[in-house]
Amino acid sequence: MDSYKRVIVVGAGIFGISTAIAIAKRYPEVKVHVIDRFEPPVPDATSVDTTRCIRVDYKSEVYHKLACESLRKIKGDPVISQFFHQSGMSFTYNGEHDRWEDIFLTGKKSAENANKDHMENMTYLDSANDVYKSIHGDTTKPKCPNCLGRKSWWNKGYTNLANGFIDAELSMKAYYERAKTFPNIEFTFKEVKKLVYYPNSKKFKSVLLKNGELIFGDLVIVAAGAWSGKLVNLEGMCEVSAIEVGWIKLTPEEIEKWKNMSITTNLSTGINLFPPYKGETKVLRRSPGFKNTICVENPNPEANGTIKISYPRTQITNPSDWMPEKAEEIIRENLKEIMPSLYYRPFDRTKLCWLTQTPTANFLIDYHPECNNVLLATGGSAHAWKFVPVIGDKVVDFIEGNLEPKLVEMWSWKEKLGNTTDNGSAPRMQGESQEIRKVIRKAYTGKSLL
Ligand SMILES: Cc1cc2nc3c(=O)[nH]c(=O)nc-3n(C[C@H](O)[C@H](O)[C@H](O)COP(=O)(O)OP(=O)(O)OC[C@H]3O[C@@H](n4cnc5c(N)ncnc54)[C@H](O)[C@@H]3O)c2cc1C
Repeated sequence: MDSYKRVIVVGAGIFGISTAIAIAKRYPEVKVHVIDRFEPPVPDATSVDTTRCIRVDYKSEVYHKLACESLRKIKGDPVISQFFHQSGMSFTYNGEHDRWEDIFLTGKKSAENANKDHMENMTYLDSANDVYKSIHGDTTKPKCPNCLGRKSWWNKGYTNLANGFIDAELSMKAYYERAKTFPNIEFTFKEVKKLVYYPNSKKFKSVLLKNGELIFGDLVIVAAGAWSGKLVNLEGMCEVSAIEVGWIKLTPEEIEKWKNMSITTNLSTGINLFPPYKGETKVLRRSPGFKNTICVENPNPEANGTIKISYPRTQITNPSDWMPEKAEEIIRENLKEIMPSLYYRPFDRTKLCWLTQTPTANFLIDYHPECNNVLLATGGSAHAWKFVPVIGDKVVDFIEGNLEPKLVEMWSWKEKLGNTTDNGSAPRMQGESQEIRKVIRKAYTGKSLL
């Protein structure tokens, strides 16, 4: 770190803000310049949403430990803890003996481990009845498979009451406010057009902003999330796709009825249901997702030609985009079983949330193999938000050469080369992502399902 006087961080999502704060704290003499397209909370950033789950239940022991540390820090932070709601989180599945059962069982084990002195936090849902009651109350009963016209999907589960959700928008605003208090952190809100290298070399020199301005640095940290592939070639490292999210307004009676429900997720169908928050419920699906393929100049130093990447298409540029019809159908088929009264309820709004998925679901914290002063801090793989209190310190540990070897290896570029074994940290439905422009709807017409 000693050789860096000016560090540029591109992106003010969880990776960027957390890293900027960690550098500023440890190295008051280093100037940190954070550049984002917008002032945080950035409206279409992956880190900004009504809610994000903060859970410690992980298949991987390493992430489990890190998540426990993060949760402790979130709860102990006088500002951020205000945005955390310890609603608990239920993990359910259809009960079949497959990959989801394996993830369910290992997640349950890590929850039990985390709660070994507080087993009162654990509740076991041994039947479809139990799962249904955990949301709607003891005197209720789910529809029978005959009424559903298919087998039931929400059949088994457990609840870990220590988990919860956080208001991801208010928290990102708070982290930004915190970052602003450091005299050595500067912010610029403009789009970075490209990274500029010294002539005939692979050494990073500056970033070129869209307005033609250049900002010079000794090190650039690319923490641009799903947009990173335009700044550095991440072929084979990060796949960019979006998953579907919708919000449904609730009546005061429904808010009262469901106020104590946990976040309820179904591993087999990929659905995540959130308890009432600010008058609505949020539902998302960890589907194979949607991609937006575009052609860009190969951003690597000394590279020629173009490459194809998937690049976020968000409501900033396409404000009338509405969740694809098939995606809505699958969500509603789940609601029919688990939240029957919402089956026909229109979404108040929907969005596609963009994510940067590595083949293994391990993050990417490493130097770009072609340029040793371009550091990548991305590859959140749909589970990185919860690590915001710790991830920046890990990035700085990495720069200093002090990151634990296990993490260096897990988050390395090399680890992802040819390794396609998903570690199950945020498992998604199997299948190919679809080209978004072929399936997106232009504002909801209400014709198909309601
Ligand atoms: C639907 C969904 C649900 C999720 N749920 C959870 C959860 O429950 N728990 C959890 O822990 N994680 C969850 N995640 C994952 C988590 O949200 C992400 O891993 C994390 O937010 C990624 O942060 P980031 O900093 O990489 O990206 P971002 O937050 O997207 O930040 C990147 C920033 O870079 C900026 N940028 C990009 N390009 C440029 C440029 N050229 N110039 C200037 N600025 C630029 C963008 O404006 C943006 O602000 C979820 C993800 C999704 C999509």
